[in-house]
Amino acid sequence: MQSSSAQILDGKALAARVRQELRDQIDAGLAAGRARPGLATVIVGEDPASQVYVRNKRRACEEVGMANFHTELPAEAGQAALLDEVARLNADGAVHGILVQLPLPRGFDYDENAVLEAIDPAKDADGFHPLNQGALMQARRAPVPCTPKGCMRLLAETGVETSGKKAVVVGRSNIVGKPVALLLLQQNCTVTICHSRTADLEAEVRAADIVVAAVGVAELVRGSWIKPGAVVLDVGINRNEAGKLVGDVEFAAAAERAGWITPVPGGVGPMTIAMLLANTLEAAWPDA
Ligand code: NAD
Repeated sequence: MQSSSAQILDGKALAARVRQELRDQIDAGLAAGRARPGLATVIVGEDPASQVYVRNKRRACEEVGMANFHTELPAEAGQAALLDEVARLNADGAVHGILVQLPLPRGFDYDENAVLEAIDPAKDADGFHPLNQGALMQARRAPVPCTPKGCMRLLAETGVETSGKKAVVVGRSNIVGKPVALLLLQQNCTVTICHSRTADLEAEVRAADIVVAAVGVAELVRGSWIKPGAVVLDVGINRNEAGKLVGDVEFAAAAERAGWITPVPGGVGPMTIAMLLANTLEAAWPDA
């Protein structure tokens, strides 16, 4: 049997620790007379995966002592009704973070970009508003998308010095690839963003001290490509041919070479909800 050399970055355990820290901070703030932080969750339609995601987010609110205001709209409610609900939540002083679960149902008049732009940027718990994405580009303080924020928290946990390191991000989505690349740049990494048209993905990954894989293709990044000692953060959530949940990285082989690696499940995934709560608390008590 081959022995694994990498240290496993346990996102489940770290997320539990972050939630405990948030809980302590909220308890202390409430005791000092602050208003309870509140997250509004909005779901449109019946998509089962979205229902599970929102249920987990609501449960996490409860766990840390945050208020949750929940709205369910039928798939046929339509864009105007959804925008009315967002406007109502924008005006509600007890709501500090607003999350509209995506994707919105197909076959209706929904416009996701218009919905994201309608959310008050100060209450943008997901960090998807274009104003906040622009702020991220300029390294200004603003809500940061939750999955990239979770990746950076996991990276910090390794204690690895990031300055001057070569980071390779595979994937260029607005919610993961691009924001995580900007955050790595803020940490003084030399960043390369790879995507579906990258000429030689293997060569790029082979040179990387830090790899972030956010593609959605099971085990696309082969273990043999990983530079010995590299930090590997695997954002992907896929089912392989055997129906098993796997990431975008060939985990067992990558763990033979990496210094640190996140598993799937139990790596980046649990950090996403913890960072959503952190964003909401920062919006509620910006001076805390
Ligand atoms: P997306 O589909 O929006 O983007 C995928 C990106 O991968 C694109 O930029 C594309 O250019 C790139 N790509 C596609 N094929 C490629 C290839 N062969 N080589 C190199 N690049 C390629 O996806 P996303 O929303 O960024 O999500 C990526 C993955 O992360 C998915 O598996 C998703 O389920 C997962 N995800 C997980 C979390 C979490 O909390 N853990 C959160 C968001 C997304």
